[in-house]
Amino acid sequence: MRWETKMPNIPFGTTIWKGICKRKELFIKRIRFNVKKGNTVKFWEDRWLFEEPIATVCPNLFNAVRSHNFLVADMGRIENNIMVWNLNFSRRIIRTVEIEEFAVLMNALDNFEFDRTSEDEVMWMASKSKEFTVASCYGSLTQQFQQNFRADLVWKQEWPPKIAFFLWLAIHNRILTLDNMERRGYMFVNRCFMCRKELESVSHLLLYCDFSYALWSYFWGELNVAVIIPGSLQALFEGWSHLWTNTKGKEVWILLPAAITWSLWVERNKRVFEDQEVSLDRMIIEVKALIFFWLSAADPKKFDRISFQHLVVDWKKTFFDPP
Ligand SMILES: [Zn+2]
Repeated sequence: MRWETKMPNIPFGTTIWKGICKRKELFIKRIRFNVKKGNTVKFWEDRWLFEEPIATVCPNLFNAVRSHNFLVADMGRIENNIMVWNLNFSRRIIRTVEIEEFAVLMNALDNFEFDRTSEDEVMWMASKSKEFTVASCYGSLTQQFQQNFRADLVWKQEWPPKIAFFLWLAIHNRILTLDNMERRGYMFVNRCFMCRKELESVSHLLLYCDFSYALWSYFWGELNVAVIIPGSLQALFEGWSHLWTNTKGKEVWILLPAAITWSLWVERNKRVFEDQEVSLDRMIIEVKALIFFWLSAADPKKFDRISFQHLVVDWKKTFFDPP
């Protein structure tokens, strides 16, 4: 919602005008928006998700975004049946306060749904609302964060922010696998789309499922790394960089867990929503292609004289055992 009127600074006859402007501020403090389409409400500066604007609740994130003027509708969209928020950060979110604010924000956004058929509504908050408070949200999150997850493990410049979002959500068990949907009250048969045998959960899908394990094993096998599959995705990311001691190929090794988990998630969603599936061999190529893509995005000249085909076929030699 636009509130463009500026406080006047001309000396003549301004007292009344100032009075009106002051009252307007009081007025704005007592309204909140009930976002439906989200095309009239400012994501950061209007009151809609919390009792205060997101900019007030998450000031450090607010400082890190490209533009303060985005509307709610600009920020969120549905991808593969999942609400994806693109917050348009102008830099990496890495400081602990930023990560905590981000967690608060994601937690709150997680409970929000657009209603694309209705217009946004203005609500008059005459009495103190007993709705969602930031304090209670923070309280529950602090408990989650006692595990002290090192946020820098997923917030890397080496892969796109949407992958970092995904990894962050996956590690905190917040992606919409079937078990997580059940927890929100959706009813259906929970059966993993990859192996069609076991129940789907984040750790099953991304680590233990026969299909996923075979994908991980291919790469561990090809690179002669003995890995005991860890108890959680978090543990996997925490221990990953120590598993590769060679300097050759380190850049690819670092990208591997993000590329594998993301490819598995994309494949899972293709199976769910598009009724398509690819073989393990094809998945292996897709993981390599993704890594190739990330590396060339970081350094466009890197592969000037090497074809993609060559990279995929001679993957190990090119990256890990160069002449
Ligand atoms: Zn499975």
